[in-house]
Amino acid sequence: MRAAEAVLEREGNVGPVELFQELRWLSPFDVKCWRKGDDEHRTLEPWIHVGPAKFQSAIRCFNDWAQGRGLRALETPYQRQDPQGIEALQVSESGDPQREKFYRTHYVPADLSAGQSKRVAEKLRKAPDLVVFEKVSEEGNCHECQAELGQGSYLFMEKGQPLCLTCADLDHLVFLPSGDGTLSRRARKQSALSAVGGAVQPGAEALRAAGIARKRRRTGPGGSRVPG
Ligand SMILES: [Zn+2]
Repeated sequence: MRAAEAVLEREGNVGPVELFQELRWLSPFDVKCWRKGDDEHRTLEPWIHVGPAKFQSAIRCFNDWAQGRGLRALETPYQRQDPQGIEALQVSESGDPQREKFYRTHYVPADLSAGQSKRVAEKLRKAPDLVVFEKVSEEGNCHECQAELGQGSYLFMEKGQPLCLTCADLDHLVFLPSGDGTLSRRARKQSALSAVGGAVQPGAEALRAAGIARKRRRTGPGGSRVPG
């Protein structure tokens, strides 16, 4: 279990999803797509490329290793944020509770204090921020209402399709300039939802490459309101 040891050393915790990436059975790209809720990535297991025998043996070794090392188990759900709220992500194809629990379990060193463990668990539980894009190309329509998305308008990508902010239920949001951590944290305390313009998120590069969108740039001190 050198791979598990390496992840634990590097990240301070290790779970099956991280282990399988370390073993290169699972690509970080597929994990990102799954975390975003892409249609082809509703579950993660089909993207783990390894035969069943090797897979079973790795699971056994991993559990034995964690027990032998006396590591502490932290159970943290995988979740995704979309405009409707928080959605739990399923890893296995079967959805079997035992299997899901296996995937949700991360291991941390046993000597971690209660406070430190809590912080690790919170970090693991946190769903990635929503990101809104500013459109740079001229053509394109909202996938849902077909409204034209003009150059410079804001859009949200859901499952690989552009949505206008009304259809994405994001038109009530106030956009925050990137890099202002205090402001973002304060806003998050007051609202369950926030969109972060400047965060680098999976897909942003692909979008830029496709000429569809670029990340929203800071437009002025304190951010700006989206009209509508
Ligand atoms: Zn729309």
